[in-house]
Amino acid sequence: MKTIIGNWKMNPGTFIEAKRLFEATKKIPTNSKKVELIIAPPHMFLRELSKGYRGTRIEFAAQDISRDQEGSHTGETSATQVHDTGSTHVIIGHAERRALGENEEDIHAKVLMALEAKLNPIIAIGESERDAHGDYIKTVRRQITTALDGIPAARFKNITIAYEPIWAIGAEHAPDAHAVHQMVLLVRKTLRDFYGEKAMKATRIVYGGSVNEENARDIFSVPELDGVLIGRASLDPIKFATIARAAAETSV
Ligand code: PEP
Repeated sequence: MKTIIGNWKMNPGTFIEAKRLFEATKKIPTNSKKVELIIAPPHMFLRELSKGYRGTRIEFAAQDISRDQEGSHTGETSATQVHDTGSTHVIIGHAERRALGENEEDIHAKVLMALEAKLNPIIAIGESERDAHGDYIKTVRRQITTALDGIPAARFKNITIAYEPIWAIGAEHAPDAHAVHQMVLLVRKTLRDFYGEKAMKATRIVYGGSVNEENARDIFSVPELDGVLIGRASLDPIKFATIARAAAETSV
């Protein structure tokens, strides 16, 4: 089974366009035994898209949640409110949120909030650059263990780690399959070292950063990788369909 997460970010501009994009995405033929499709539209469009959807092949994710449950937090959206829209997932710690000041403690609090509200967290991690001393390895391990601190092994089946190196997001090229595989191994090893074999096996790991219709097959060939998180290409149903086809063809 391969997972494809489409992060629409702050697109498109109107609900009519969002509906059109969703209608086109809905038509993408996928075998639900082989491909799991998760769409993350802006909060504003989540409820109407999700409640108006009669199918079961597509699931919905929010792009962020508040670290608080309720109260005086102007402009924030709680995990419970997101769950109430019919969403099943939430992206937490995306690089673009971290760039706005979200820190690792916020991310940990959001992961706990998501699990409490029965939302499956998709935790985005990834280094900003590759330094010669290998500090990026420490960064990635720290991001994982801080986000998952204190979470019981039984909850790991609800967790997805999205390894998204910041230098590859919105870039021209993704790293090749070998480079992605090295990092998938690092993520799996970190999970095993800190939470044990069972938690490591239960966690889904996806790669994100410049996945497109040309490199998708290569990325899907990475062993022990469960899928991809896509930004730009999720806004183009033709590209998205090609990626979904590559997922189905490489899924076992
Ligand atoms: C992202 O923003 O998480 C992302 C993967 O974007 P893109 O696919 O456009 O690089």
